[in-house]
Amino acid sequence: MAGLLSGLDKLGLGGLEGMNLFDEADSKEAEIVKSKAPETVVMETDFLFDKTYECPVCYQSMKERTLKTGKAKLARTELNLRPVYEEIEPLKYDVIVCPHCGYASLSRFFGYMAPTQVKAVKENISATFRRNIVWKETYSYEDAIERYQLCLVNAIVKKAKASEKAYICLKAGWLAQAMQENMPVDDPDYASRQKEAKVLEREFMKNALEGFIGARQSESGPICGMDQNTVDYLIAVLAMEFGKYEVSGKLVSNIIVSPSSNERMKDRAREVKEILIEKMKQKK
Ligand SMILES: [Zn+2]
Repeated sequence: MAGLLSGLDKLGLGGLEGMNLFDEADSKEAEIVKSKAPETVVMETDFLFDKTYECPVCYQSMKERTLKTGKAKLARTELNLRPVYEEIEPLKYDVIVCPHCGYASLSRFFGYMAPTQVKAVKENISATFRRNIVWKETYSYEDAIERYQLCLVNAIVKKAKASEKAYICLKAGWLAQAMQENMPVDDPDYASRQKEAKVLEREFMKNALEGFIGARQSESGPICGMDQNTVDYLIAVLAMEFGKYEVSGKLVSNIIVSPSSNERMKDRAREVKEILIEKMKQKK
């Protein structure tokens, strides 16, 4: 857990780093041609706008960098369901942080909170939170990781459901993967920074796996907008990454024969099954 929440000391929350997780034809024609020229530079800021929110903890108004709907183009989806977009990483902009009190949440879960949760955040986060979060036009991967850590510690403090914590870990793990892929190779600390990001990715993914397994047992209905087959598929992929081949194999086999899973999901499950068989052969 040390790696998972390390860095919170910068926000005055160093005491929370060790917390346990579980219990984004004329001149007109010439203009058009010009605007479509390949040298047109697409800026990350083109995809973003400032959205105003009211914090459910301190009731103050705040502005948050937010992804414009429908503007980012999906390039592909990875085996672990991580969506990869062209020209921008939307994951960087999925955490809403209140700069006044330190409350942070994924946009999906931002909103009403029970009075006991508000009290817990005020006492455990706001009381020591350093108000040094400044408005930025765009976020670096490092900024974004810090935002996910703040989001996660808030979820722990407000005793969020296992599914919410698992989903934060999954997204943070995906973000750490994107960070490794987009790291400039001419960075003098490239090797050590890659290694650091990999450790962080594993830590987040390990907790996502644990959390989704817990959520599957204790929560009913869709989990964070995902149906049971999708959650089972995610658990299967994550379990495979952590060497839990038996769990993974059982889940993918279920998905392949399940009448409720669609063909796309079945194809993905078959793909995982093949990789799994290869991994098991290598183990022997
Ligand atoms: Zn606030």
